[in-house]
Amino acid sequence: MYRLKCEVCNEHFLSRHSTAQTCSNFCGHVMNMTKRQLYSDEEIIHLALLNPGYGFRAFCKKVKSGARSDTPYELQRIPYIFEQCKKELKLDLYAHLNNPDYMETMYLDEWIAKGRPRAGTKHTGQQGSRMKQSKMMAAYREYEEADFKYDRNHRRTHRKVKVFPEFNWGSIEERIPSDNEEE
Ligand SMILES: [Zn+2]
Repeated sequence: MYRLKCEVCNEHFLSRHSTAQTCSNFCGHVMNMTKRQLYSDEEIIHLALLNPGYGFRAFCKKVKSGARSDTPYELQRIPYIFEQCKKELKLDLYAHLNNPDYMETMYLDEWIAKGRPRAGTKHTGQQGSRMKQSKMMAAYREYEEADFKYDRNHRRTHRKVKVFPEFNWGSIEERIPSDNEEE
């Protein structure tokens, strides 16, 4: 048996394994959660401020980027950070992330040409202006070449798509969680 010190609670404990880091399942769980924390509270706030209109749920997914899907931890932590912000700084990050004013409205042809970025409402606008996708793309290319100058002889789609802004990492580097997590 090895006499070791727990890295979470600092209590001494005995273990058959010299590499054990924590005294109990509870402390092991705490350590795993800390390891899964990819960004500090300050970075989470910073990123939320940088991304108005990105959407709360999408934001939570983005900042845990690829962490195991059975880990609801960030989904509990981020609302907690946001609550603190509201109380202490009178800053509503939840409303900031869900502010629809930052969505961009673009024509359906542009949306397709740009690789279908994340959209909220799709296909608003005149139903009568329905065009085949190939025809739409041909018209879009011609408009693109003409610097989008209106050409009354060349019909372009009138259907529009509301698109979420792209994620802005600012000065923060995106971190990918490691796969080898201890249970
Ligand atoms: Zn412990």
